[in-house]
Amino acid sequence: MSTTQAVQKALGPFPKLPSPSVIKEFKDWVAETGQPDKWKWHDHSTPPKDHDYDELVKFEIPDKKRADVGLACCPICSPNKGKYFKGVLAWFPAEGVIRAIGHECAEKHFGTLRFNRARAIRKHRQRVDAARDFLFNHLPTISALRQKVETHVSTSEDIDRIRHVIRGTVTKAACLKLAKLGQRGPLLLQESTEIEVTDHNGISRTEVTSQVVGSVNVDGLGFLSRQFLTAAQARNTAQALMLVRALNEDEALTFICDTLSNDDHLFQADKLARAAVDEADKLWDTIAEAKAFLHPDNLMKLTEWSNDFRSGSPFLFEFRREHPARFGVRKRGKGIAKTRYIPIPQKLRSQ
Ligand SMILES: [Zn+2]
Repeated sequence: MSTTQAVQKALGPFPKLPSPSVIKEFKDWVAETGQPDKWKWHDHSTPPKDHDYDELVKFEIPDKKRADVGLACCPICSPNKGKYFKGVLAWFPAEGVIRAIGHECAEKHFGTLRFNRARAIRKHRQRVDAARDFLFNHLPTISALRQKVETHVSTSEDIDRIRHVIRGTVTKAACLKLAKLGQRGPLLLQESTEIEVTDHNGISRTEVTSQVVGSVNVDGLGFLSRQFLTAAQARNTAQALMLVRALNEDEALTFICDTLSNDDHLFQADKLARAAVDEADKLWDTIAEAKAFLHPDNLMKLTEWSNDFRSGSPFLFEFRREHPARFGVRKRGKGIAKTRYIPIPQKLRSQ
């Protein structure tokens, strides 16, 4: 037997880095049984202090299993008696084995340098995996996202125009005030009552108390208080998407594995892709908010509420179901204030 063969024979089942499927098998086992120390690949022997190791994954015994299975044994500090709920699965390349170890004793046993190295390896590997997963899932969607943003540019401009006209008619301050009224919950109807009270000196005075007599839930009031232009948001999203490669699934796989084999490049690509996808998500939120605000049911509620004298609404709405393509706003108070009618473009109308 050659020396190489002898070394190979001495190695356990994992001379190479265990695959993600092995790690998944372990996690499933712990979730199911709560017994990391009973897993078939767990090596019970005490690890040598002077060997490097890699942390593969952190784990903990599920809460609901703890009462049944108790603490797990730790091959480092407590091979025969339960010791830990939280641990880490570790790979020992020189021996070719995996051990589930309690996390508290590792630093003392292996020394801080070796312990930190093992932890840094896990964190880096997790970051690489997360970046690759994200890119693999999202690069194939970039092309469609770009087109979708393109088709929503004019919608964004419509949203800005409608808000601009409302603010121009009833003032920006009134819009902000209404948005604030609805920030913490439903819009209220309140009645005030005056009552005469007499204090112990026999002096009477009038006290005003207000009572909530009704409330209405409306949507999308944030549309009134937005401080940025939706069209600018759409442009920013389009620009962010231009910085990301639009690839199909096969191309994405090759790109991630080959072109981004350097981790710095991988992280850079991941950062750009995440930024673009986040921007797009925020844009859809803004558009959804405007649509919710302009929904016929919502405008109906705003009309009824704002025209009730008990609402204290800073301005008035007017919407009729017979005219679903427009709504009106009017300043409060003065009878002479004219209603300004604002068309609702088809794209912003919910059917
Ligand atoms: Zn231990």
